[in-house]
Amino acid sequence: MPEAAANEGYTVLARRYRPQQFADLVGQEAVVQALVNALASNRVAHAYLFTGARGVGKTSTARILAKALNCVRGPTATPCDQCEICQGIAAGEDVDVIEMDAASNRGIDEIREVRLTVRSRPSRSRYKIYIVDEVHMLTPQAFNALLKTLEEPPEHVKFIFATTEVQKIPITILSRCQRFDFAGIGTVRIVERLRQVVAGEAREADDEALELIARRAGGSMRDAQSLLDQLLAFGGERLTTDLVHQLLGTAPDERVIALASAVLEHDAAGALELLGQAADEGLQLGELLEQLLDYWRDLMVANSAGGHYPHLNLPVRYHETLASQAAALNLDTILAGLDVLSMTKARLRGSGHPRVLLEMALVRLSRLDDLVSVAQLAQMLNERVGSAGASGDARSSAATPPRPPVSRAAVPPEGLKKKQLTGDEPSRAESTLPLTPDTLPQVWQQTLALLGQMHASDLQKAGQPAISGPNALVLRFPPSYNLAQEHCQTPAKMARVEEVLRKITGHPVVFRIEAAASTASPAAAQAAEDEEKTPSRYQRQRAEALKEPMVKRAMEVLGAQLVDVDEGFATASTPVSDRVGAAADSEEA
Ligand SMILES: [Zn+2]
Repeated sequence: MPEAAANEGYTVLARRYRPQQFADLVGQEAVVQALVNALASNRVAHAYLFTGARGVGKTSTARILAKALNCVRGPTATPCDQCEICQGIAAGEDVDVIEMDAASNRGIDEIREVRLTVRSRPSRSRYKIYIVDEVHMLTPQAFNALLKTLEEPPEHVKFIFATTEVQKIPITILSRCQRFDFAGIGTVRIVERLRQVVAGEAREADDEALELIARRAGGSMRDAQSLLDQLLAFGGERLTTDLVHQLLGTAPDERVIALASAVLEHDAAGALELLGQAADEGLQLGELLEQLLDYWRDLMVANSAGGHYPHLNLPVRYHETLASQAAALNLDTILAGLDVLSMTKARLRGSGHPRVLLEMALVRLSRLDDLVSVAQLAQMLNERVGSAGASGDARSSAATPPRPPVSRAAVPPEGLKKKQLTGDEPSRAESTLPLTPDTLPQVWQQTLALLGQMHASDLQKAGQPAISGPNALVLRFPPSYNLAQEHCQTPAKMARVEEVLRKITGHPVVFRIEAAASTASPAAAQAAEDEEKTPSRYQRQRAEALKEPMVKRAMEVLGAQLVDVDEGFATASTPVSDRVGAAADSEEA
């Protein structure tokens, strides 16, 4: 196999292991079959155009085809590889097979010469074969020169063009070529080939290490082989996964999983800590982002495929972890996560602050679950509209629940199932009370009861909170209670309230405290829920809703649009006289 290794000391692996026969071409079976058939039936075209990504075997195929046509024992689909012609072509030195690179400066001149030389007979072979690499780089003049030749090709001439950018080839040229599209090569096939190369070099490598290389090469056999070449040159007894990560500046899978797990457990601080460590150790942050993208992609596949997923990036031994994480997530949440990551990738290009961008992505990801997906929003909206229609009076929605809270509790919203991972939830779903306008008073009462007297009495000065978005509560303190508000607003106490809310409702709830803008009664927020939805009031609500950080985030992260403002989105600044509800009337005046 290593045919040229001896001559010049060292030849790169990709060249030494360049396929010499059609049967050696990995992952291009359709192309090979068509060419073999053409040779067998003596219907080889005058001009071929090979298109496809870099390193998928276009030039190798061109050389094999040239050997097949010119071999002393040919034309044949299995050139001998022994005759002078076969060996000359394999080495790129045959007089009748002219290889040129249109991307090089010389290429343009060479193509002009083609017109002059094309008429002369091949010196020793059947055909004069021109192999033009990166043919899309030709100037319009050069294409014109080429076209004249292609229009009336002499019998003894064959053209093989290769390009990575077929869309740049003029249609006049395209229409005179037989085109073959080379596919990207699958990871499994690349690993197989790398394994052969490692064995051929009398070296050893972990399968996982080879998989890693193949994945990095993204379908390009040449890239995979040159990566392997570098890694083998680095030495070491055995090529291990750790060594590959170390040399590539990528994070071991365990670290990517740890990072993903922190994010999925809403532990933004933990995720940032892990990122900090990775950065300190000199890991490439761009690579880390790619790895996270791969991980989220795997989550998506595992979630959608339901137990059967042969094409995951992650090695098999992690599949169980991945599957349990994926099962606890809602597909929309995973997709939103992929959006966040790919948006970050786009921003990362040309940015001088990769770390900040990655940190932002991690914090966003760890909060994704708080932002109910667009689908869920739509569902909630539909339920609300349905219940308002059924009761015939939107005002009475608080008194007539859309559905008995019990039935909702039994089936927690899908996107919020992931708490199972954190383990601090009530063990039985039935014991939770999901947050809705109907359950709000009860939820808040239970929250206060669990918080302890001091904290609860401070919070009570603000009355009852209002629902300010999906799974979000806002509590407004009247100006006279600045001190109580300050007490309640420490990060520890805020976190404590969110923790208790989560225990009671069974899903994450965002809790915020604000100062009321006017002197309206503290309980106005709750009462506003019962108000008439007059157009002006509705517009005011809309405007306020758009100012809500929660809503802004939903629009930014999920690409959501404000469709409707819910009755529950009440504000303390609403004139008290508008109110119809009776619940808080005693506090007025
Ligand atoms: Zn031969």
